[in-house]
Amino acid sequence: MPASSLLLDIPFTLDVPSLAKAVHLPDDPADKAALETLAAQAQEIGRPKAIYRLGRITARRPDAVVVDGDIELRSKVLASVLSDEERLWFYCATCGTEVQALAEGLDIFQQYWLEEIKMVMLRAATEHLAATIRQEHGVSRLSGMGPGSGDVGVWDIAELAKIFQALGSEATAAAGVVLTESMLMLPNKSAAGVHFPLNRKFTACQLCHRPNCPNRRAPCDYNLCDAAMTGCDASGGQGSKPASSAPA
Ligand code: SF4
Repeated sequence: MPASSLLLDIPFTLDVPSLAKAVHLPDDPADKAALETLAAQAQEIGRPKAIYRLGRITARRPDAVVVDGDIELRSKVLASVLSDEERLWFYCATCGTEVQALAEGLDIFQQYWLEEIKMVMLRAATEHLAATIRQEHGVSRLSGMGPGSGDVGVWDIAELAKIFQALGSEATAAAGVVLTESMLMLPNKSAAGVHFPLNRKFTACQLCHRPNCPNRRAPCDYNLCDAAMTGCDASGGQGSKPASSAPA
């Protein structure tokens, strides 16, 4: 199996006014000072990380692609978006384990602040990873999706195990990411899946009915959902098509 690459020195910036806005910080000098202190500590010890490796698509079916001869990724949507692609990159990005030490002694509100800080670090890791793949492999436009993203039926979350298997236990251990038996990634602000070149706009958020998601990157596209989920069980999705909503 090809070795995964590890990105350890990922830059990130914790902007306190942006954090304050994201966590709806009360207009209170003590809260502001506490957030500034927490952000400064996280900036000091935080080490977001990412791992990735190239895979070649070696076989296709309407409901799956096979990568490197023996890794079968079962998703109709993935098979459809990869219909013209020959390669993909398995990836995992994480906020890193280091900042979790800061949770000690925090009250419930401050723990929420820390979660937002970890999310900023995860975003930095995913953006740095995508930029690295684009630069290394001359890809102008990169898209991606992961098991569990989008509506139920888009890509079963149990397939996370295949992503971790493809990346290798040595690489995931080096990044400090663990996948539990219940398919929970630890640290909790981690993401895994596949990236691929795609010359059109696509994100799993277009195939997701979940309302009020703070991380949504594109509106739900009801026409795309209908097309992508034909033959799949989308009944467990987060909602039905609003009568008044137009497709994105
Ligand atoms: S809208 Fe939110 S839950 Fe749905 S795929 Fe996008 S990030 Fe995930």
